Amino acid sequence: MTRPAGESWDVAVIGAGPAGSSAALAAANGGARVLLVDRRERVGEPVQCAEFAPAALLLEAPTGPSIVVQRTTGIVTHLPSGAVERTDAPGVMLDRAAFDRSLAQAAEEAGAELATATSLEGWTGDGRLRLASGGEPFTAWAPVVIGADGPRSTVGQHVGLTNRIFAAAKQVEVLLEEPLEEAHVFFDPLFLGGYGWLFPKGETANLGVGIDAAWIEDLDRALEHLMERAAGLGLVMGRNVLGRTGGVIPVGGPLGTARAGTVLLVGAAAGHTHPVTGAGIHAAVSCGKTAGRAAARYTASGDEADLAQYENEWRARWGDVFRIASRRRTELLRTWNDDLEAAVRRCWVVFPAYDARR
Ligand SMILES: Cc1cc2nc3c(=O)[nH]c(=O)nc-3n(C[C@H](O)[C@H](O)[C@H](O)COP(=O)(O)OP(=O)(O)OC[C@H]3O[C@@H](n4cnc5c(N)ncnc54)[C@H](O)[C@@H]3O)c2cc1C
Repeated sequence: MTRPAGESWDVAVIGAGPAGSSAALAAANGGARVLLVDRRERVGEPVQCAEFAPAALLLEAPTGPSIVVQRTTGIVTHLPSGAVERTDAPGVMLDRAAFDRSLAQAAEEAGAELATATSLEGWTGDGRLRLASGGEPFTAWAPVVIGADGPRSTVGQHVGLTNRIFAAAKQVEVLLEEPLEEAHVFFDPLFLGGYGWLFPKGETANLGVGIDAAWIEDLDRALEHLMERAAGLGLVMGRNVLGRTGGVIPVGGPLGTARAGTVLLVGAAAGHTHPVTGAGIHAAVSCGKTAGRAAARYTASGDEADLAQYENEWRARWGDVFRIASRRRTELLRTWNDDLEAAVRRCWVVFPAYDARR
């Protein structure tokens, strides 16, 4: 636990996940005095992620053998009928804790002050941040606040910008029968509005399922079913469970705006997660950098137009990706009970019909 030494900063970043650390890094590199806080004792832990990302992530994020656990060559999609489709798509399996740690460390090296075990509790009447470190309350001042505090963002609640639609996910770490080169995904009527995954990392794999949070009471049954299916296909060795995790993912698409005055939201806090796949690491890093750069420009200029640019910039890069994904998710849910096989072929990212329509 490290309580910050100072009392005022140019930019306060709440949350040291991929979005927050990327924002803190970019803001510090842009010359701003940055406070980066996370309520966790150790950045990145416990991991609540399936740790899979497109290989393109490595072009803009830390890399190295301690972070990239395995590369994958493609995605094997298991349809409800049992039919299998293989797609080339280079991917990486991350050690998510090491990945998050290395981003936070880069932000510190650029000059950001990192305070762990420190949570944002709210705001004082005169606009100061109310923080608590190891149970001890204190306040801090920053003209710009970047809310990178995950799906149910405290910062977002403060400015009335909150995610409303979620997927709920549960995952186990299992032993593989033999190492796999491809990531596997599974569609099944039980995985309502979502899918199952088997993402390999050497001798083990992350095996999980995410479904529409409205059906959360079916989640354990869905995971049981997926474990049986993966074992039945000879992919997974018995039913040894090495670890468990889970969490919620915003899948309703980006919030209408990710800015309220001098408050910017980024990553899962802003709904920067793919409504169909649930993936959010790449967008968190990319949008985090964009937010951090905007905050540094504003610090230098005092002109709110510099913060407004953040909204235009992240939308230029990710707007179409999320817009198409939101439509496909809506269609997938609407047609789920009609002909799931056909719905998946229209709405799952690997199939040509996914991109063919706007
Ligand atoms: C089970 C599961 C599997 C997933 N699998 C994948 C995957 O394989 N690939 C992929 O791309 N995406 C995946 N995702 C989504 C991905 O994890 C998120 O999109 C990504 O972590 C978003 O990054 P972030 O920095 O916005 O938020 P987070 O990583 O959630 O970080 C938010 C941080 O804010 C901190 N925080 C929260 N509130 C406060 C507060 N009040 N004060 C201080 N700190 C606070 C938290 O401790 C946390 O460290 C998965 C999600 C889940 C739940």
